[in-house]
Amino acid sequence: MNLDRVHTLADLDGWSFPGTALAVLGHPVAHSISPAMHNAALAHMARADEKYSTWRYFKFDIAPGDLAAALPWFHARGFLGLNLTIPHKVLAVELIEAVDPAAAESGAVNTLLRTPTGYRGFNTDGYGVTRAIAEELGCCVADRPVILLGAGGAARAAAVACLRAGCPTLWIGNRTAANLERLLATLAPVARAASRGVHGFDLGDPPAGLPADAIVINATSAGLKPGDPPPIDVARLPGTPLIYDMIYNPPETPLMCAARARGLTAANGLAMLVHQGVRALEIWSESAAPADVMHAACRAALGRSHG
Ligand code: NAP
Repeated sequence: MNLDRVHTLADLDGWSFPGTALAVLGHPVAHSISPAMHNAALAHMARADEKYSTWRYFKFDIAPGDLAAALPWFHARGFLGLNLTIPHKVLAVELIEAVDPAAAESGAVNTLLRTPTGYRGFNTDGYGVTRAIAEELGCCVADRPVILLGAGGAARAAAVACLRAGCPTLWIGNRTAANLERLLATLAPVARAASRGVHGFDLGDPPAGLPADAIVINATSAGLKPGDPPPIDVARLPGTPLIYDMIYNPPETPLMCAARARGLTAANGLAMLVHQGVRALEIWSESAAPADVMHAACRAALGRSHG
């Protein structure tokens, strides 16, 4: 079976894979290196426990309008675990049987676990991004203000993780005001429980009052496509902020280039990909997942994609 192939809903019709299937669903999804990362981890885990030798991770291009119909199909075909990427993370919350309380706070899920009657949703992005920031930037979201760019599925998880970790203040900038308002409303109970302030702003016109020396997290898609400008004018960020861009391909994103040109420290989203993947694989397998093997597999896959 070609594990690099992009499958579609039509492939589920005659689906005959005899082992334990996992998959990422997205639109588009061809660029995803999650299959390379997870299949490397499974091959490694199979050396210690033979059961993983029959586990495989696939990728499926599923349009948002097809997700509601697709999930029961994946369940009927026995898929044990699913990852959801752009643009399904928020949409899926309404479509699954149960949502883990921690994921419910963010209103977004990126990991689904099969139960006998449906899928249970989790969100491992918040864990992934906070762990990656600690590793890559050597700091903790509890210690500095956070300026979060974006209000989509990944931003939702990051916002909850920052508030839960106790970040001093959280500023969220987004392009579309209505999506920002929706996220601020979702976060209100979490912010109240954490006794933290959350402020929204227009990404195109950052206010003068942004906190200095913040951790800036890019959770927008701006930077994924060649020629994209950075999501924010770096000159409008006061002090010496640390920049974490969730995008990992290209490895040097427009935001990172602009930040480094100003002498700022910046890292891409590769470590986040690995850590959210580690946590997801642990949910599916109930075993420890090999982060170093997954990191190496991601680097190799990115190397191949850059020829
Ligand atoms: P999503 O739910 O579709 O949200 C996309 C966000 O990007 C929205 O806030 C959207 O703003 C904003 N946006 C899109 N194009 C923009 C542009 N040209 N200028 C400014 N803002 C723009 O996607 P997601 O799942 O949250 O993913 C967001 C990003 O995080 C993607 O780049 C994804 O690759 C990355 N990510 C990385 C990891 C990792 O493991 N490293 C994990 C998850 C996500 P509007 O509200 O205005 O549309």
